[in-house]
Amino acid sequence: MTALTLALSKGRILEDSSALLAAVGIAPVGDASRLLRLPTEDPDVELLVIRPTDVPTYVEYGAADLGIVGKDILLEHGGEALYEPLDMGIARCRLALATRRDSPLLRGLDAAGSRRLRVATKYPEMAKRHFSARGQQVEIIKLYGSMELAPLVGLADLIVDLVATGNTLRANGLVEIETIVESSARLVVNKAAMKMKHAAISALLERFTRAIADA
Ligand code: AMP
Repeated sequence: MTALTLALSKGRILEDSSALLAAVGIAPVGDASRLLRLPTEDPDVELLVIRPTDVPTYVEYGAADLGIVGKDILLEHGGEALYEPLDMGIARCRLALATRRDSPLLRGLDAAGSRRLRVATKYPEMAKRHFSARGQQVEIIKLYGSMELAPLVGLADLIVDLVATGNTLRANGLVEIETIVESSARLVVNKAAMKMKHAAISALLERFTRAIADA
């Protein structure tokens, strides 16, 4: 059999994918929360557990044949060089625009008048695209975590962040204004590997397709 390497995003996707990996017969053998590289129940498949934003890079350069990564990451960091054959249906969330519960912007973004709105986000490209599509000039403030804090302390008027249940926004006195895009985990494949390791990758894709349908 051809050996395959699959890059798995740390965090929400690692947590949500364990049942699916087990159903496909590639459950990690070892502590996936600590090890960066580990074998699976299938001697022909190994896992790399890496930062979500690095998954497209590992797969694009062929350091991993396949990857599991959020659509949000593919849209923000680029996944054009990869095949994206499967929606895994896990780690579902939406990239949303939110503000303070008491913000005048809830009546409409025009409430800001001629003032340029400040938008805090981990997703500057998606935020830029969203506001330029509506012809609105905003100042994007790139943050690396805890976006919810920014409107509370006056750093930003709005945030663009991932929302799943909405509990985090609510707990911080924020409300969603609109959804920018829906996201879920996707299986991505290196283009050269798809040709060179076609039989092994097709067989794994089939196993994933069946497991997702049964989930
Ligand atoms: P929730 O309270 O369920 O709306 O979850 C929101 C928090 O979890 C935010 O801090 C998000 O950044 C994070 N989050 C939600 N869904 C995901 C996901 N699929 N991947 C990574 N982070 C997520």
